[in-house]
Amino acid sequence: MPAGPKGGSAAVKESGQVEAADGAVAERIVCKFGGSSLASTVQMRKVRAIIDADPRRSVIVPSAPGKRDSNDTKITDLLYLCHHAASMNADFSGPFGQIVERFTGIEQELGIAPMIAQHLQQFRAQLGAGVTADFAASRGEHFCGLLLAAWLGADFVEPAECIVIGTNGLVDPQTWGLLGARLADPGKRYVLPGFYGRDPDGQVRTFSRGGSDVSGAVAARAAHAALYENWTDVSGLLMADPRIVSQPRPMAEVTYAEIRELAYMGASVLHDEAMAPVREVGIPVNIRNTNEPDHPGTRIVAELSPEIIQSTQIAGVAGKTSFSMITIGKHLMNREVGFVYRLLGVLEHNDIPFEHCPSAIDSVSVVLESKWLEGRVEQVLDEIRRTLEPDEIEYVPSIALIAIVGEEMARTPGIAAKVFTALAAAGVNVRLINQGASELNIIVGVAPGDYPQALRAIYGAFVPLAG
Ligand code: ASP
Repeated sequence: MPAGPKGGSAAVKESGQVEAADGAVAERIVCKFGGSSLASTVQMRKVRAIIDADPRRSVIVPSAPGKRDSNDTKITDLLYLCHHAASMNADFSGPFGQIVERFTGIEQELGIAPMIAQHLQQFRAQLGAGVTADFAASRGEHFCGLLLAAWLGADFVEPAECIVIGTNGLVDPQTWGLLGARLADPGKRYVLPGFYGRDPDGQVRTFSRGGSDVSGAVAARAAHAALYENWTDVSGLLMADPRIVSQPRPMAEVTYAEIRELAYMGASVLHDEAMAPVREVGIPVNIRNTNEPDHPGTRIVAELSPEIIQSTQIAGVAGKTSFSMITIGKHLMNREVGFVYRLLGVLEHNDIPFEHCPSAIDSVSVVLESKWLEGRVEQVLDEIRRTLEPDEIEYVPSIALIAIVGEEMARTPGIAAKVFTALAAAGVNVRLINQGASELNIIVGVAPGDYPQALRAIYGAFVPLAG
């Protein structure tokens, strides 16, 4: 029998397996539940059923309660409102009252022995006396964690004692030891609130918004978990944006590298910083749906399993319409040493990051996010003219980029042919092509007006379109 959280004396091994006193082993799972999974007691009961269904689910990382319906407000947003009002010496009783109502309602409905009112009262006084925005925002996860721990009979772990967030906003490596020691007893079930820790000076500090995903990943690594389950309100990730492609296929398995490419192009997946802690040590992530717990969701792994190797040849397609492009032409550019260096120097001087830099013999383009050029296009173009003395310079204010992503691409002939045949058949003019050096993606640039049909055409070249 596997050792459960109530398994008594047991030890966690580096592999993430839990070894019980009788020598049986089981693996540990860290489960993060998002705001929609904790928005009401109906949702919380689903969460409990999920946790109870598998004894390996012994480290629970909650977000703050989210929206119950589209007219509702997330607890975290109410907390920021309270802090904003309090910092201006204005009345914050409106949003504060809503917070009290939500938490006391949850406490009563779940039949937890009353304790939350006292915490809320203390917090009200702290708000009045002046606290940081991070401290105020962190209370959503903090109170939710207190309630869950009491309800589940779990050990409450205070993140401000064992997660250190550096001045750059990223987790500090001393966290692995601190949190690992705190989560060391595999015979226990732990609740670790998401979203916050402390800064190097000991003050409460949050990750950026949506940061409970990061806390879950950090806990998975610190606890040597075998799996990081991220419970949300969708049954895994889709191969394309469902607002553009009707009923895109779900992904059963996708690699960390593929996810990185898709997320960069706007596919909403996990928080940006959530992948690194688990990717570095190879802990798989499983995106699951609290409202459909039997659905296997999407697994994010280092390498695709042989039976999964994408039958569709690609992992997915994603794109964004928010790019601009500057193309510079100059005769015999290829012989001019340092030309691209000086071009990128202009961008650096203006503090502008670039995304892609496709080149030809006598021309080179830079593709960048349009927001960086807002209000200073002429200034940047002038500087390029002065520095590089080009024969011509073209500025395309708006271009859409689409990434076709897949680990299998490097090994499969004919992928590019499929993409461009589909675009030609759809009558889409391709403005730019870039195949990443990693051969993990092909990027095509099209006019923003062509974006939806280009995305559908590319997706349809690999997967039969629904409807
Ligand atoms: N509650 C925080 C937010 O709304 C963090 C999270 O939910 O991940 O951003």
